[in-house]
Amino acid sequence: MPATKTSKSTIRFVLFFMLVTASTLVAQNPDSVKLRQIYDFYLTKSKCYSNLDYLVNQIGGRLSGSPEAEKAVQWAKKAMYEAGADTVILQPCMVPHWVRGAKEKCVLSSTKLKLTKTLNCVALGSSVGTGVKGIKAKVIEVNSFEELEKLGEKEIKGKIVFYNVFFDQTKIRPGNAYGEAVKYRSKGASQAAKYGAVASLLRSMTSVADDEPHTGNMNYDTSISKTKIPSLAISYVAADVLHGSLAADKTLEIYVETHCMTFPDAASFNVVGQITGTEKPNEFILSGGHLDCWDNGKGAHDDGTGVVQSIELLAAFKQMGIRPKHSIRAVAFMNEENGLAGGTAYAKYAKDHNEKHLAALETDAGGYTPRAFGVDTLNGLYKMVVGWKDLFSPYLIDKIQKEGGGADISVLEKSGVPCIGFEPDTQRYFDIHHTAADTFDKVNKRELELGAGGIGALIYLLDKYYPY
Ligand SMILES: [Zn+2]
Repeated sequence: MPATKTSKSTIRFVLFFMLVTASTLVAQNPDSVKLRQIYDFYLTKSKCYSNLDYLVNQIGGRLSGSPEAEKAVQWAKKAMYEAGADTVILQPCMVPHWVRGAKEKCVLSSTKLKLTKTLNCVALGSSVGTGVKGIKAKVIEVNSFEELEKLGEKEIKGKIVFYNVFFDQTKIRPGNAYGEAVKYRSKGASQAAKYGAVASLLRSMTSVADDEPHTGNMNYDTSISKTKIPSLAISYVAADVLHGSLAADKTLEIYVETHCMTFPDAASFNVVGQITGTEKPNEFILSGGHLDCWDNGKGAHDDGTGVVQSIELLAAFKQMGIRPKHSIRAVAFMNEENGLAGGTAYAKYAKDHNEKHLAALETDAGGYTPRAFGVDTLNGLYKMVVGWKDLFSPYLIDKIQKEGGGADISVLEKSGVPCIGFEPDTQRYFDIHHTAADTFDKVNKRELELGAGGIGALIYLLDKYYPY
């Protein structure tokens, strides 16, 4: 029937019109258009990857107080100016100066098992050394501090305590398993010394069954014990060997030799690159990572990637001609790994200079595929960012979680600055964390750039809209 035919085609036309209008509206949403442009910049023009190549391969391991850390400071300053910073500030801080010295030794010997075996090991950061004489003693294995306490001085005195603690495999986020287990690294030596142990050994903080030992910081807690004993991590495989050997011979011995030394604190710097805001220059939004890393590796994922992603923020704003209302900062923090002197110095500088920080983001979970932002609820920050979920989902960031931050910005956070943690997929992060295997080849260029793009896009939106 003609009438029906007309109305059908009218409906079709209206539906078609609505579809075109809707898709045009989506396409013309200025924020979604801008995010597309920002990501295009990062995926085609960014220098994240070549910057990381230089930092990791030309400078390498850069523990606080080392000549390499100083080189990294000078490099970051230059890279920030090249990226387009209006100004680069070097913020002084005094950092611990701990030196590993000659390669560590850990040798298992058992007369009963007719076994002498070298175990792959690494001294923990801040540990005292054994010196050339080394320490040879029987070993007592524990799975927890509670077990250690039950054994007491009677069983522990004169022995080496071996913390055979695994990551909880049921934890979906490896960072949570790390968070639970890391107390054995940080406090294990003091707890063992309390009962008269002569050294402490630790199963490496990882889930991967390989032969790489993982270092990381420890500290002597004088409220637990005044005695400082050497502390080392052995690889996952070595921990299995030690555990199996102890089951067959409780009288076996371990010889450890380390040459660590602690020198007086050294002068160093945070490197802060800034694009000054056009409307509110004394209000700041920052993205930061840490410049220092452990000396046994090259700090590619931890945290070279965070540093280059943050530096690229300056390049994106400058090269895309985005003039921020607020001052935008890229911060290369010093001394995250063994002291947090840089994070503390940054917060003090902000306070001393009456700087108002609107928000601070940290990227220190590796340069892997971006997944989420963890955002503090303070000052309506979470509420605002979660409203942008649909803008980020095409770029793989499909979760905006409550509460975030990072170690370096934790001091700012305590002073009331809402913080954000960039959260990539971290399933592989603890495979290489604090090991000699944290090298450039482990970083995927596109994953690194996608993460940097997410950070750049978020800072762009925050500058435009926050705090309302
Ligand atoms: Zn880190």
